[in-house]
Amino acid sequence: MSPGPTTEESASPNIAQERYGFPKQGKYSLSYWLQGVQRDPLLNYRSTPEFPSSVDIVVIGSGMTGTLVAKHCIETWPEKSVVVLEAREFCSGATGRNAGHCKPDQWRGFTDYEKTFGTEQALKILENEQQTWSALVKYVQENNIDCDLWVGDTLDVPVTPEVADATKKNFERFKAVGGKVDHIKVTHDPPIAAEISRIRDALACYAWPASTLYPWKLTAHIMRENLEKGVNLQTRTKVTSVIGSPKYPEKWVVKSERGDIECSHVVHATNAYSSALEPSLRGLISPSPHMCDRIVPPVTFVGSASLENSYGVLLPDGGLFSINPRSTAEGSVLFGGSNPGQREFEQWLQEHPERCIDDGMLGFESVTKAVQTFAESQIVGWNAKFIDHSWSGIIALSADGVPFVGQLPGLSGQWVCAGHHGHGMARIFTAAPGLVKLMSGSSWAETKLPEVFQLTRSRISRLTKLFKKEERIEVHPRL
Ligand SMILES: Cc1cc2nc3c(=O)[nH]c(=O)nc-3n(C[C@H](O)[C@H](O)[C@H](O)COP(=O)(O)OP(=O)(O)OC[C@H]3O[C@@H](n4cnc5c(N)ncnc54)[C@H](O)[C@@H]3O)c2cc1C
Repeated sequence: MSPGPTTEESASPNIAQERYGFPKQGKYSLSYWLQGVQRDPLLNYRSTPEFPSSVDIVVIGSGMTGTLVAKHCIETWPEKSVVVLEAREFCSGATGRNAGHCKPDQWRGFTDYEKTFGTEQALKILENEQQTWSALVKYVQENNIDCDLWVGDTLDVPVTPEVADATKKNFERFKAVGGKVDHIKVTHDPPIAAEISRIRDALACYAWPASTLYPWKLTAHIMRENLEKGVNLQTRTKVTSVIGSPKYPEKWVVKSERGDIECSHVVHATNAYSSALEPSLRGLISPSPHMCDRIVPPVTFVGSASLENSYGVLLPDGGLFSINPRSTAEGSVLFGGSNPGQREFEQWLQEHPERCIDDGMLGFESVTKAVQTFAESQIVGWNAKFIDHSWSGIIALSADGVPFVGQLPGLSGQWVCAGHHGHGMARIFTAAPGLVKLMSGSSWAETKLPEVFQLTRSRISRLTKLFKKEERIEVHPRL
């Protein structure tokens, strides 16, 4: 048996022995982002002490998705009542515990997407990421939002010959079919790549504009504006089921630990936890814990000598270090991604499926060790000896690697925007408004989202069949 994680406490033993579950109650690990806002009253906010019994729209989940869906709902229908129900503290799911990258993939996922969805959709998926990043940056800048937004060059750096070769082929293929690459600076000269990236074994370096940010603060800003516009936020309110209204056939009853709400529309913005509430999503959206680590850089890496870029260090078998230097703030460096230690963690999870929704874990030895080894051996002149802080968060793996956006087939008035596959920061800013367009009766084309994001009966049935036959499409989380 593999060694277990460091943990706040064990996950509750009555969680189903399968890969789905509700948000973990009790102690969860404190992410770097949540640690920084512990005195913020929004965390435990309830707009009204009493629980509403009837509203127009119920949004379940207060991460980036639920918060943005609520924003677009209240802007589209100022006269309607909107309530956001959150099982734990405000924005304490993946949005409050991720690696803080908003990195539009340019070509890295192209071959995988092309294999699964065809060339046109693969191009659309990457175009959508670019649009999402632009929309997020524009929104933050125009509204002057205090969320430590950094805009600069992110670097993708392959560090083994096989990965460098595969990356190059992927890039060339993307370019050959008309993918936009003018804005990507590329070198295949290892010494130059190592000099630019400051990574010892760099074999190539691809640079393009992307961002890092404080996701909780951005989400909180949007939620505060929502509250001013009349949205009702109810934290610490777990939804336990959604059933048809016994009184009105076209309405739903959202059942929670604090009471029931009757409504016309329900939005599942529950990401990794979606399939606990909605059984038809089981096998399609699966929770997968990941770790993030924060390192305090050595004195040789502060001030003007700090790391100036964010990174995706590309490793064999889809492995990745996602590196976010908090150069704009106090200078610590955050590591996320599916690093080489993730495999051992995954094996451990096979033996402990009930821990798949456990974000109380404070690190897993193989994952932490991989970060330590990489930083010490690969970042030129680094020599930092310790990891200061580790935490966990739950990624929503999508069975085909892209989110599910749309109405639940056969359940008119129930909507989903979830399954962001570890890459929501580069998706949600367009996916959430897209969903609200659908709710207002617009066509899919009007959402401008790639067609393959749409939640359709045929997509569910195709993926469910694959899942039953255990022939799932292997798609690595993008982060
Ligand atoms: C460790 C880690 C690192 C990541 N790094 C990156 C990155 O660098 N870049 C990137 O683009 N993406 C990253 N991601 C993914 C990104 O954080 C997510 O895609 C995104 O935050 C999803 O937002 P969301 O609002 O859909 O889900 P969440 O933020 O998870 O929000 C869902 C909310 O729903 C609530 N909820 C669930 N079920 C219920 C219920 N029954 N009743 C009431 N409330 C409920 C949850 O408590 C939660 O607050 C990372 C994720 C993790 C875990």
